[in-house]
Amino acid sequence: MKFIPAILAIAFLGNLTEGFAQTEKKMPPIIDVHVHAMKVNPGFAGNLCPWFLTSMPGSGPNQPAPSFINTACVDPLLAAKSDQEMQDALVSAAERLNVTMIASGDAEILHKWVQAAPDRFIPSIGIGPGMTVEAFRDSLSGGFYKVMGEIAPQYQGMSPSDMSLDEYFGVAEELGIPVGIHMGTGGNGMANITSPNYRASMGNPFLLEDMLARHPKLKIWVMHAGYPMIDEMVALMGANAYVYVDLAGLIWSYPQDEIHDYLKRLVQAGFGKRILYGTDLMIWPKLLETSIGLIQNATYLSEDQKRDIFFNNAVRFFNLNPEDFK
Ligand SMILES: [Zn+2]
Repeated sequence: MKFIPAILAIAFLGNLTEGFAQTEKKMPPIIDVHVHAMKVNPGFAGNLCPWFLTSMPGSGPNQPAPSFINTACVDPLLAAKSDQEMQDALVSAAERLNVTMIASGDAEILHKWVQAAPDRFIPSIGIGPGMTVEAFRDSLSGGFYKVMGEIAPQYQGMSPSDMSLDEYFGVAEELGIPVGIHMGTGGNGMANITSPNYRASMGNPFLLEDMLARHPKLKIWVMHAGYPMIDEMVALMGANAYVYVDLAGLIWSYPQDEIHDYLKRLVQAGFGKRILYGTDLMIWPKLLETSIGLIQNATYLSEDQKRDIFFNNAVRFFNLNPEDFK
């Protein structure tokens, strides 16, 4: 709310002096399709260097678990230290960079964000622990949530086509709600350091095929673009004309050459109209700038391709009205 007067002031001053108007011009709109609302735990809210997975540490099962979060860089991303600090920084960055976010996670935090900046957040709902299909349907019918995600059966070692998820996808299909499904890596040592049930094989994009066949009207996007299974991802997108991908997570954690190779391959294979920009933002507000910079610096993308990834593809996928972003 408190940012509206600032924007009006800029617009007013802009009318007075043309030069000022040009330098303060609103940034072209960006939709970040992958943001997590979570309570900040000050004990665990550590700083982080982007592209920290550039060098995976060597270690062994009988040694202390390696820390793969690298903080030894010139300009680490600072973690927010409280929920309020995170909200203020996020809303301020969203206004400055003209970003609208599809956000899922802690319901209380999400409601606060929406209250603070209703135009900047599109709430998304996952399948909460123990949530029945009926409770899920009620939540989606309530009007607050417009998207379903992040669905991440891979962390339970489960395929997205597992029948225990099928009715939930059926509800989204029936209500015309787009769904984001985590398929891809989640960092170094997922299976033996952080999530014992995690299985790399359950991130194979081909595992979506049976579920998609059962739900022909369901609209899904593959979060993390199925990284690193590019051949399977390209094959799945070829076979299923309505599947999109997002670049979240990988664009700020993996080595930059690796990210560019992956993104370039997706575009080269002809899927530039089905790539969505996303961050996987958690507790580091500056991550928005870091991630936008990576796309802006992609020399192999035309300006039109960058606008598609940042905005146009998401408008099409989520049935948004581009006029709302002017
Ligand atoms: Zn994910």
